[in-house]
Amino acid sequence: MGGRILIALGGNAMTAPDGSASPGDQHRAIGQAMIHVAGLIRAGHQVMITHGNGPQVGNILLKNQLTAHVLPPVPLDWCVAQTQGTIGTLIMNALERALAPDPARVATVVTRTLVDRDDPAFLDPVKPIGQYFEEAEARRLETQGQTWRRFERGWRRVVASPEPLEILDGSAAIALMEAGYTVVAAGGGGVPVVRGADGALNGVEAVVDKDLAAAVLAAAVYATDLIIATDVPNAVVGYGTASARPIEEITTASLRELYREGHFAGGSMGPKVEAALRFAENGGRQAVITSLEHIGDALSGNIGTRVIRGVER
Ligand code: ADP
Ligand code: MG
Repeated sequence: MGGRILIALGGNAMTAPDGSASPGDQHRAIGQAMIHVAGLIRAGHQVMITHGNGPQVGNILLKNQLTAHVLPPVPLDWCVAQTQGTIGTLIMNALERALAPDPARVATVVTRTLVDRDDPAFLDPVKPIGQYFEEAEARRLETQGQTWRRFERGWRRVVASPEPLEILDGSAAIALMEAGYTVVAAGGGGVPVVRGADGALNGVEAVVDKDLAAAVLAAAVYATDLIIATDVPNAVVGYGTASARPIEEITTASLRELYREGHFAGGSMGPKVEAALRFAENGGRQAVITSLEHIGDALSGNIGTRVIRGVER
């Protein structure tokens, strides 16, 4: 009996190793990634896929900026929705190809993620998005209400990254999954929406972390396993130091402790570890953080960082 597995694909599943995101780069990377995903489907698992979208959203934002004199720029939540459509399409084509000659049933759900309009993240936007720019351009866009910050390599727009509360289209994803589809959902963390005082939903200028959204989606669809596929085989203790050590099987209690000690960088490994912890703490069978090439072996053990609920004896 196979499991019901949510795979969260990181940037390296969708762009060239250097982060380039030309159409050819995205084609190649997704084609490669779907060969690994097809392996899990062939092994009899029910698979759902979610994915990041950083470079793709960056491309759309740049296009917005360069064409602002002829077309009104579109809001950030629209940009996220656009990436769900394009990346979903590429995944569907690539997965059908990888499963051939077996028939494939693949569907993409445009997915909204509910966030709290009073989330403190809106008061202090910290998530960098898009390309680096000169100070003058950053200052100009600040006058239009955007927030920009100076980083080592230049100025970059920052937006709020609020907590995902609910994957609003999770029930559509389940219905398709139960009808036998491999579903792509909550791409880029989902299109962020807030509920107004009148109960109506509206998009917001924010991005939801795709790994944290994956943890919420995994719970919503009753996934047994969460696999976070990235570009390193394991989460590492003492990352980048002489005493670096890969983490293999670990309990939620021990990993929480390491998290508190600050071993996982914010914005990269931090949210993956947090997502793995939340999933396993809330009853998931296991969460595995590993590199894309290893996802076929991730469930059978001895691979990646495997997070299971409990306390070390
Ligand atoms: P993705 O695009 O797959 O979401 P990220 O680049 O956001 O991946 O996160 C993976 C990266 O996290 C690794 O390539 C590594 O550089 C970085 N990282 C930071 N801290 C750690 C750690 N403690 N262990 C392993 N990798 C870490
Ligand atoms: Mg990355």
